[in-house]
Amino acid sequence: MYIVNTIAELKEKLNECRSRHESIGLVPTMGDLHAGHVSLVKRCVAENDVCVVSDFVNPTQFNDKNDLAAYPHKPESDAALLEKNGCTIVFMPSVEEMYPEPDTREFHFGALEQVMEGPYRPGHFNGVAQIVSKLFYAVEPDRAYFGEKDFQQIAIVRNMVAQLGLKLQIVSCPIIREADGLAMSSRNARLSAEERKTAAHISKYLFESRDMASSCPLSAVREYVIDHINTEPLFRLDYYDIVDGISLQPVQNWEDSPYAVGCIAVYCGNVRLIDNVVYKIDGKMVK
Ligand code: AMP
Repeated sequence: MYIVNTIAELKEKLNECRSRHESIGLVPTMGDLHAGHVSLVKRCVAENDVCVVSDFVNPTQFNDKNDLAAYPHKPESDAALLEKNGCTIVFMPSVEEMYPEPDTREFHFGALEQVMEGPYRPGHFNGVAQIVSKLFYAVEPDRAYFGEKDFQQIAIVRNMVAQLGLKLQIVSCPIIREADGLAMSSRNARLSAEERKTAAHISKYLFESRDMASSCPLSAVREYVIDHINTEPLFRLDYYDIVDGISLQPVQNWEDSPYAVGCIAVYCGNVRLIDNVVYKIDGKMVK
């Protein structure tokens, strides 16, 4: 495995690969890698000749400076985990390498960014688009891998790829969870023991609501999740929306969309967690 820190070195390595007609996959990450990231890496390794993983805490996507300051950075253990899982090149640039000049580009995603995370994290998706586009230009991958945990991010990235006319495939990968159901996240380590226990109730309520969905109206399922989250003193709900999985716009009745996904953002203590559950896909309720 090669560890490279500059775009020039990265391009040099990738040009060698391209001259051998090797396919290239990219997994963008912010490091502090866990089994969720590893699932993306394994899929990338399986589907491409070359697997590039970027490991970079992108400052422009943090709307909360404390969140950025608290974000863990573990290059050595990340590199060891990536090597073990078949990564070909890990790209660990400095902030100066990625942003030699402030990035003044402004992306617009219309209705996709006016829902869910959008109003709560102003500027977040613009920062995501800035870094992901820079990575796409640097790597020119055939495929790029993203986790469904960040459900809205995938829709934003697909829209950005279309806007920029890039020719790559965006591959979405299922959420990897802890044994008690909590979606894996680098932020979980910031939870106290009591918060960590409570945090597992997020997925518990989501899964219970999914069990209700085929026999209850959408409004009752939505209320179930909101009411249960609100009974726990450690939780503070930002939003819980059941949306169409493509347009991300709220759905009022199950019949109104072939693809209905419930997306939640909730503070557990001071740690903001997100998760989601698919209720309906390809026109069929999920059992
Ligand atoms: P991050 O390092 O948090 O920016 O995440 C990098 C990529 O890993 C994103 O595409 C995330 O959606 C994905 N990811 C993070 N956590 C999980 C998880 N629990 N399951 C699957 N993918 C994940």
